[in-house]
Amino acid sequence: MSAAIVTGIVTLRDRLRAVRAAGRTVGLVPTMGALHAGHGALIECARRETDCVVVSIFVNPIQFDRRDDFEAYTIDLAADAAFCGQLGADFVFAPTPAEMYPVPNAAFVDVLGVSEHLCGAARPGHFRGVATVVTKLFLIAAPDRAYFGEKDAQQLAIIERMVADLNFPITVVPVPIVREPDGLALSSRNRRLTAEEREVAPVVYQALERVRDRIRNGCHSAADAKRAGLQLLERYPQFRIDYLEVVGAATMVPVERVEGPVRIAAAVWLGSTRLIDNVAG
Ligand code: AMP
Repeated sequence: MSAAIVTGIVTLRDRLRAVRAAGRTVGLVPTMGALHAGHGALIECARRETDCVVVSIFVNPIQFDRRDDFEAYTIDLAADAAFCGQLGADFVFAPTPAEMYPVPNAAFVDVLGVSEHLCGAARPGHFRGVATVVTKLFLIAAPDRAYFGEKDAQQLAIIERMVADLNFPITVVPVPIVREPDGLALSSRNRRLTAEEREVAPVVYQALERVRDRIRNGCHSAADAKRAGLQLLERYPQFRIDYLEVVGAATMVPVERVEGPVRIAAAVWLGSTRLIDNVAG
């Protein structure tokens, strides 16, 4: 059965008010559609932990720093709603841009520090757009729990910090990365890879594993650990490295010495596709 598609903010609020009045909890899974098994893991987790699962599907224009990337983001709402229904989601919230932004936004949410490095440095304005739309979704759906993938580790750290700093009464639930058998992290953008690009794409994960192995084998110098990953990536002229960094797990700020919990994160261009991935240190 397909999940019920709701496009209006007022309608969703009305439906969820009735759910809460019946004493049922609400789980929210924010997505940009083009759903795959990575999103599926979030939905399944929400299904297990909450009574009513809402999957939002909204390609948020204010978080894109490149027009071509935004325009390449095509989604099939009927297919996505069927996918959500199969996994037991109750509602798909799919507002239009005009419903979410009837006039250009003047109010934004900025999460300082944790937004500064990695994709924050590479994609100006991106995380401000993400934090702002997630705030809107939180205020619209008022979920008890909200589910985010570790695939976007910096986004997850930003949302966790935002929820703590602004006292959102919401539990943020991190969900591990779902990968292809060859290690490539599932992503809607993988569809854009050519056959040749798809073949080398798993090397990004292999490079991260190399850095992680160095650290696990006792290397405390982030620069030395990173070198192992960079050397592998540099063997492939197809890659243009945006960054490969070792950052504090909660701060997302690059470290020189590995002392506490870290994330090893990379962003790499492969042709016209930008791939991101990360592993725990
Ligand atoms: P997106 O539609 O790309 O904005 O992603 C929506 C949510 O799904 C985010 O919380 C992502 O981190 C999560 N997600 C995307 N791909 C994966 C994956 N391969 N494994 C786990 N979570 C994922």
